Amino acid sequence: MHKVMIHPAEYHDCSEAINLALSLFPLKIKGKKVLVKPNSINGSEPDQGAVTHPSILETLLKKLEQSMAAEIIVGDNPGAMEYGDNEETFRRNGLMEAAGKYYKNIGSEAIDVEVSSQFFNHLSVSKDVLDADIFISLPKFKTHGLTIISGAIKNSYGILPGAQKGNGHRIAGNPARFHDLIVDVFGLRVPDLFIVDAVMGMEGNGPVSKDLRYIGQVMASDNAVALDATIARMMGLNPANLGFLEYAKKQGYGDYANEAVEIIGNFTIIPDFKLPPSAEGKGRELPPDFKEMTQRLTSMRPSADQNLCLGCGICVEKCPVSALSMINDLPNVTPEECIVCFCCQENCPERAIQLR
Ligand code: SF4
Ligand code: SF4
Repeated sequence: MHKVMIHPAEYHDCSEAINLALSLFPLKIKGKKVLVKPNSINGSEPDQGAVTHPSILETLLKKLEQSMAAEIIVGDNPGAMEYGDNEETFRRNGLMEAAGKYYKNIGSEAIDVEVSSQFFNHLSVSKDVLDADIFISLPKFKTHGLTIISGAIKNSYGILPGAQKGNGHRIAGNPARFHDLIVDVFGLRVPDLFIVDAVMGMEGNGPVSKDLRYIGQVMASDNAVALDATIARMMGLNPANLGFLEYAKKQGYGDYANEAVEIIGNFTIIPDFKLPPSAEGKGRELPPDFKEMTQRLTSMRPSADQNLCLGCGICVEKCPVSALSMINDLPNVTPEECIVCFCCQENCPERAIQLR
């Protein structure tokens, strides 16, 4: 039986929830090297809800400082580096200040590892991830147009530095295969503990949606499948309909069945939670199945809001398959080239791109 904690918290008052997470899922930290990986997807402000809020990180670090760890490192390989590099992204989103002396650019050194996957033979993984005795992942409670939810398993995609994340999208080639690919990356170093920032969640067209949703919880587990399944259920989704959870279960990373998950705290389905366009519209009693979601995704294409777009060209530069070009200062997609990877949306600093 997997345990999932759901505990009330606010950003100014999350100490009790984090203490409870550390006591429910105890880690032997003394003398160990600890890596903490927030979701630092881009350089947006913490209150925009795309990144793990710095207060969660700061509170956790205060607890870890008392645990006599040999070394603590905070780092991530941001998906969208619209401001040029890893450090600038952390500076802008407030995670650098929260990490303080523990911040490290984990993208600067990587180890090549052999991978048993249909997608890769080798991958470069941040050395600090592989060297860590204890790996604590801090995902954000939010939607994701491609993977429907962005939780524990998706947060591990950031153990890959550099252009590999974009390449992964290109290699997967379509949304259904990308669900499997992120699980193969997750399996390279399964985190020991997950603490989710579910205080201010994101709904709608995540992972960089403007639609925020107050939830007022911190969640935790030592099992990513059970945790992501609980996030999915809170959003009104059936976890069995998420391709990456089905594949993760098959790979032996955990179970999402109701009877396999013990909830510690109060579970509620968030009323009228707005799902991403690929998953919405079926009603809560009959969530769309994975095949239908991926069919819908395959027919979507990015479109920039001309009232928001500044014509910076970052989306064009970040498209892994060169499906975008600037025409009259607006990005324009070549539909047959697009693999619906959402990289343009993730990278747009103005949140001007929607996939429709
Ligand atoms: S859509 Fe965003 S990233 Fe693309 S050109 Fe416009 S502002 Fe820049
Ligand atoms: S246009 Fe956008 S969604 Fe399509 S492949 Fe390029 S980055 Fe991905």
